[in-house]
Amino acid sequence: MAELQRCVLASGNAGKLRELGNALVDLQIELIPQSDFNTVEADETGLTFIENALIKARNASSASGLPALADDSGLTVDALNGKPGIYSARFAATSAGGKPTDSDNISHLLQLMESVPQPERTARFVCALVWIAHPDDPEPVIATGSWSGAIATDIAGAGGFGYDPVFQVPGLNKTAAQLSADEKRALGHRGQAVTRLLDQLKSRPR
Ligand code: IMP
Repeated sequence: MAELQRCVLASGNAGKLRELGNALVDLQIELIPQSDFNTVEADETGLTFIENALIKARNASSASGLPALADDSGLTVDALNGKPGIYSARFAATSAGGKPTDSDNISHLLQLMESVPQPERTARFVCALVWIAHPDDPEPVIATGSWSGAIATDIAGAGGFGYDPVFQVPGLNKTAAQLSADEKRALGHRGQAVTRLLDQLKSRPR
């Protein structure tokens, strides 16, 4: 059997690690978390999901000396003009200025959405994936996915991570946190982006 190619996964988010863990197995690529290389997290200074995914991929590839896969993702809420968007992980303020928990972010979101009526609670999960062969790779492979839904008025479900407990999946009367991992992969933004990334990696001329 051919040897697995090693690739660093530019994320410390346990939810993403779970959902992306086997994403590249078809291509004989093993994903190793950037924490294995003591990577200092990159400053996400971009203004788009794609820019931030590129920044994270370059940072992880430099630290590890390996090809890198990065995921930058988040929730865009129409009634909030696209917020929290690229700031999804750091939406709620914390007293000590540290990183808010998923539950802090959800409470902040529900509070801002308190008076927004049901038809105006539309939102999307967005995922940008970037794969690079080395830190200076001028031909990054980029794939995105987007999942439309609505913001619930209360939390429901214990699966997934992040905003899943308040993301209502259209037509199912369930939140994303009430789906199985396979259901979320089949419907969700990350699953779509992974499929598109794999198609491009498989047909790459190099
Ligand atoms: P990032 O690490 O800067 O890309 O931040 C991503 C943030 O977006 C996460 O911390 C979550 O709050 C949110 N997010 C991204 N993908 C998902 C998902 O699949 N479900 C729920 N929340 C997500």
